[in-house]
Amino acid sequence: MLSHPATARKGNLIACAGMTLAIIGTIFIHDEKVQPMVYTLILSAIGVGTIAGWMTAKKVQMTKMPELVSIFNGMGGACAALISLIEFQHMGHEAMPVTPEGGMDLTGLVEMLKNMANQGGMSHTAKLAMIMAGLVIGSVSFAGSIIAWAKLNGTLNKPIRLPQYNITNNILMLGLFVYAFLIVNGNVEGIMHVYLLFAAALLYGVMFVLPIGGADMPVVISLLNSFTGLAAACGGFMYNNKAMLTGGILVGSAGTLLTLVMCKAMNRPLSNVIFGAFGAGSSGAAAGRELTGNIKEISITDAAVLMNYSKKVIIVPGYGLAVAQAQHVIHELENILEERGVEVKYAIHPVAGRMPGHMNVLLAESNVSYDKLVEMEEINPEFSNTDVVLVVGANDVVNPAAHNDPASPIFGMPILDVENAKNIIVNKRSMNAGYAGIENELFYNPKNSMLFGDAKSALTKLVSELKAMD
Ligand code: NDP
Repeated sequence: MLSHPATARKGNLIACAGMTLAIIGTIFIHDEKVQPMVYTLILSAIGVGTIAGWMTAKKVQMTKMPELVSIFNGMGGACAALISLIEFQHMGHEAMPVTPEGGMDLTGLVEMLKNMANQGGMSHTAKLAMIMAGLVIGSVSFAGSIIAWAKLNGTLNKPIRLPQYNITNNILMLGLFVYAFLIVNGNVEGIMHVYLLFAAALLYGVMFVLPIGGADMPVVISLLNSFTGLAAACGGFMYNNKAMLTGGILVGSAGTLLTLVMCKAMNRPLSNVIFGAFGAGSSGAAAGRELTGNIKEISITDAAVLMNYSKKVIIVPGYGLAVAQAQHVIHELENILEERGVEVKYAIHPVAGRMPGHMNVLLAESNVSYDKLVEMEEINPEFSNTDVVLVVGANDVVNPAAHNDPASPIFGMPILDVENAKNIIVNKRSMNAGYAGIENELFYNPKNSMLFGDAKSALTKLVSELKAMD
């Protein structure tokens, strides 16, 4: 249900109900004796978390959604790391029972193994390994998500790259593996080492995300999301709790798939996102052909006339539509055109905007019918029989350099083939580049006209003009 806008809301509610059942089951269905105070604490914590989460999610603006996702994801990572810290201390008590004289307590050991077998048969080492994995992955996810959040809200607005940051980061990551292995293997003992590992993992999380450009954060968040899922799955193994295990694996695999889908839609390998390229100011980012030619402008009146007398108009929404919050006025424009007998559709590129499904969510907010949102592969053959394509605040997703210019950083990225339409109108505020930082040869196409201005105000004027033409 989550894979289609029409059913996604219901899918979310069902997932929510399932998780609630799993939580209730975990709290109340077990053999251990629990003091009533524990229930009070757990239910109070759930109450506080629910109210805080509900209110934040209710209030958040659509353009701030990636920030919210990153902070919530960070909480999940922190939770998994804290579970590991606590459970390590429980393990400490279980570890190697000794006799009062300090010798090996065989009966105690047998008893301990029996208990473990009853709890799901996980060996001491395996449990310790799960705890360390949960600690490291959860901490990386937490620290990384906080940095991602700070980048998205502009607190950290530049990629910070220490000299040789890739090598430093890889050494740090290797160090984390080795240290965790030494703890699991018993080469180093004691809670101090676990705290040190925790601190090192937090540092790695920060170092991992710091060099990546702000605009790449949605991909990074999706990747960190999959880390959080893995960390939670480790908790599921540890507690032999199938609901936690399934939930964690679901998040882990969905996050990984989403990351890969986003990378594929941008035609960039994940390594390129992590090690930086787009918008990073590197020579590669600005590479591409020198563009020459004329830019044609169109007035609001001429744009209105052209659309009014068209049979078919396709609207291409992009990031600028979200920035301008022009989703309601674009729906109004669609309604007016349809009343005049013009067929109107929206062409949805998989990475238009700044988060997966950005355009679907935005347009759903203004009640655009789902069947009008057509995905890239399906709509591309339709451009050739379209009278007008109206591109609103989109740039990279309609840049023909992806087909024509092997030197371009977006070469190979699938795009919306708007240049096949009879007329193209592009609305944006200036000739500035989009996310990939490159010029767009579409703007120089003889069939193209620029409608300069903020999307909301330009579309509002267009709507008034169309109304006046009645
Ligand atoms: P782009 O970022 O390429 O272009 C957006 C354009 O909108 C800009 O050129 C800007 O031009 C214009 N704009 C900004 N504000 C306004 C406004 N108020 N009114 C009118 N226009 C405005 O957007 P696209 O949607 O075409 O492409 C998305 C890009 O983001 C792709 O490169 C994709 O790879 C990347 N990306 C997408 C992710 C996703 O999950 N969707 C995740 C990570 C990256 P001007 O300043 O002149 O107005």
